[in-house]
Amino acid sequence: MRKKIVAGNWKMNKTLQEGIELVKEINTALEADKPACDVVVCTPFIHLASVTPLVNPSLIGIGAENCADKESGAYTGEVSAAMVASTGAKYCILGHSERRAYYHETNEILKEKVLLALANGLTPIFCVGEVKDERVAGIQNQVVESQLEGALFNLSAEDFGKIVIAYEPVWAIGTGLTATSEQAEEMHAFIRSKVEAKYGKAVAEDCSILYGGSCKPSNAKELFANPDVDGGLIGGASLKAADFKGIIDAWKK
Ligand code: PEP
Repeated sequence: MRKKIVAGNWKMNKTLQEGIELVKEINTALEADKPACDVVVCTPFIHLASVTPLVNPSLIGIGAENCADKESGAYTGEVSAAMVASTGAKYCILGHSERRAYYHETNEILKEKVLLALANGLTPIFCVGEVKDERVAGIQNQVVESQLEGALFNLSAEDFGKIVIAYEPVWAIGTGLTATSEQAEEMHAFIRSKVEAKYGKAVAEDCSILYGGSCKPSNAKELFANPDVDGGLIGGASLKAADFKGIIDAWKK
């Protein structure tokens, strides 16, 4: 069954103490008012082991924002998928546009990361999306298709079924510019059609596709109302419990 998901991406924000406070606040708010969707909080690596035991695992899943493309060994400063999983984290964002742009993560690298995340029982939240020039040139579908083909479509249907996709138009991330509801639905439906062509209707119907890019409490309901939008990956608005909860509540009737 396709899951509705709201996932936060803290990026490089919050000290450990601030992160602990935030996760406690989110947990308390959701204990008091149960969510109508799955909730995921992705934090910097350094927070994972501390915040995982602080949340009710039936309400919140914790995730990392990245993992290494190597299993283990002499890779100073890297954090492996096995290490992430050993903290109790269940998810791992991969392929975020900031990782692709600033840390030169290619489809080949991402392919390895996805395989390692899956091998360690993590659910990858795999990000795809076009930059502004590509949208202006009208080639957004080709860009997203090549990201899917390059890093995910090597997977078996069984493994692909474990992936969550996040469509994040890069021009909408942290800019205050949100894709219109129509633009989001159009791309989500396109992604689902590509998944169907590769893996068949059942896998495509079960695949959760999240929207990311300046999603906030005021626009979440409209975005999530689209038939192919299964939730959101939330950056800035996940840093305040009230805003994050406001987006989670968009799934309530
Ligand atoms: C993100 O970086 O995943 C994101 C969606 O950021 P924001 O919500 O701040 O645009």
